Amino acid sequence: MPELPEVETVRRTLTGLIVGKTIQSVTVSLPRIIQRPDDIRRFEMELTGHRIIEVGRRGKFLRIIMDGLVLVSHLRMEGRYGLYNSNEPVEKHTHVIFHFTDGTELRYKDVRQFGTMHLFLPGEEFNHKPLVKLGLEPLEEGFTMEAFRKAIAKRTTKIKPALLNQEYVVGLGNIYVDEALFRAGIHPERPANTLSDTELESLYEAILATLTEAVEAGGSSIKSYVNGQGEMGMFQHSLRIYGRQGESCLNCGQPVEKTVVGGRGTHYCPNCQPPDRSMGLSNPGLGGLNSGKKPGKKARSASIHGKGNGVRT
Ligand SMILES: [Zn+2]
Repeated sequence: MPELPEVETVRRTLTGLIVGKTIQSVTVSLPRIIQRPDDIRRFEMELTGHRIIEVGRRGKFLRIIMDGLVLVSHLRMEGRYGLYNSNEPVEKHTHVIFHFTDGTELRYKDVRQFGTMHLFLPGEEFNHKPLVKLGLEPLEEGFTMEAFRKAIAKRTTKIKPALLNQEYVVGLGNIYVDEALFRAGIHPERPANTLSDTELESLYEAILATLTEAVEAGGSSIKSYVNGQGEMGMFQHSLRIYGRQGESCLNCGQPVEKTVVGGRGTHYCPNCQPPDRSMGLSNPGLGGLNSGKKPGKKARSASIHGKGNGVRT
């Protein structure tokens, strides 16, 4: 599922492709993508004649801003936008087509069919589902350390599900939560309210750094991707912990582990992200032994010779 950096990359690309174009007509072939209004014909009619002014983003949602209308679009699992000439064959799984007056078309393709579109009057979108309850926007000015502390510090849930909750902070999904927790050296199962001020601060910095770097990576690789494929979507960024289970931790050399937290596959280094002392019983042998210590050469050699699970006793 695309997270903030991927959606931001799509936003930037779409900006270059569709801003200034005027919609001549709209074709919807899979009604369930359109969540608002209920009537598909009305959706098609309302958009006709509107000019695209800007492409915005709120969390993982795109906001296609027109003169007098805003289309809120969520790509969910596999939604893709692509700009085509109207004479190009329409590919399978294309569910919505925005025909422009200049002979080009913005096509929305979605194999899994989980994507959604909601149409609003400008400004109205923030008071309704799906945007109304969204939390802090991490790449905007309001995302201060103090705001982050207020949103997270008193939660009794584990830190990973707390960060995934879009009502607290938006845009983070499974990949970048794992990345940020690894950078901050925080175990994904620590209850949020057990994090010290220093840890919260490290986490705040880690979220900013992770997202900023991913956005920059997406931005730099987008051009050739669009030219080559004629469409845009997700990008593989250089990930430090996600998907690296069994490989050596880039920080200490011990094997990266994969577990399930809050129903989500979770990658972490047991050495760099020690569990809370109060969790010691569920993780025998880890509790407190390594906390705060920078791993040395010993850890590195242990990972090479011993299969182990990263537990140093
Ligand atoms: Zn490590």
